[in-house]
Amino acid sequence: MRKKVELKIKWFLVDFLCFFGWRPKMNLKSGAVKALLFHGVCLDNEPLINGRFIHLSRLDKLLQALSAHFHLISLEDYKTNRISMSKPSIVCTFDDGYKNNLELALPLFDKYNIPFAIFCNNVPHHLMDLLDIANYWQPTLIETFKKQFDLLKSLPHIKAHCKVQNAEVVSEMRNYLWKNLSPDVKEKSKRYWELLSDAEISSLSKNKLVSFGNHGADHLSYTCLTEKQMLADVKAVDKRFKQMAVKLKGFAYPYSESSYRTISLVNKVGYDLQFSELTTNETTLIAKNRLTINPFISATNQLIAISKDQY
Ligand SMILES: [Zn+2]
Repeated sequence: MRKKVELKIKWFLVDFLCFFGWRPKMNLKSGAVKALLFHGVCLDNEPLINGRFIHLSRLDKLLQALSAHFHLISLEDYKTNRISMSKPSIVCTFDDGYKNNLELALPLFDKYNIPFAIFCNNVPHHLMDLLDIANYWQPTLIETFKKQFDLLKSLPHIKAHCKVQNAEVVSEMRNYLWKNLSPDVKEKSKRYWELLSDAEISSLSKNKLVSFGNHGADHLSYTCLTEKQMLADVKAVDKRFKQMAVKLKGFAYPYSESSYRTISLVNKVGYDLQFSELTTNETTLIAKNRLTINPFISATNQLIAISKDQY
């Protein structure tokens, strides 16, 4: 809590000083390479119902700032270490495969000629998104959901509980929410739940700026899966993309949760580039960290966080 307040004061001071012409000194080393994590993009007049979405104008300013300071590389270049030695490099990635990546992100990435990668699942919708949508537009549904699944606590506790459930329970929860969201709420919240269709993925794959990765079929925490479940989950996305003849160039763990066991197993099935929170001396060649974009702060504050690799 104290850290959050301190950060907010720091961010405010930076923006305040920048308003009067001050520019922060950034410690950006040439030859360094960093990966950024985005999720969804929404219009400026649409609400930020969670910290995973960023407003279009904020994304525009951030991409402009990134273009000025970094060499923006593709996932392929990141993988093969084809980076600039005169500037630090950045690879931009999006998780969860939202349709808004095509409708809103692509035109902006196109404007600045920045490559990006989208990590997809096979789910019809994401459980966490449906919870956020219900919480924002139809809070009575959260109450009935709690009764239905015998949950007592607040939304963050419910989410933590949902994250560690098995595929059957997650699917049951998702179906319950989807069935009970009103048609009106489904319509106005489309931006937050609609995912890329196969046809859209196929068409996006022809764009030279876009590449794809595997984000686990059911979006489950891999630390909770058996070896057999894990393999089936990775391969289900492989199969979907094979049918579309679209190459998958990396693996990003759902919720960024992994272990030595998952990293070694996912590597064995062909993923020598994995994005995860767990990176140690033994796993750094395969598993890499990403910095999750904060949609509530200015581009300058975001650049400072990128240069420090933390908020
Ligand atoms: Zn995800």
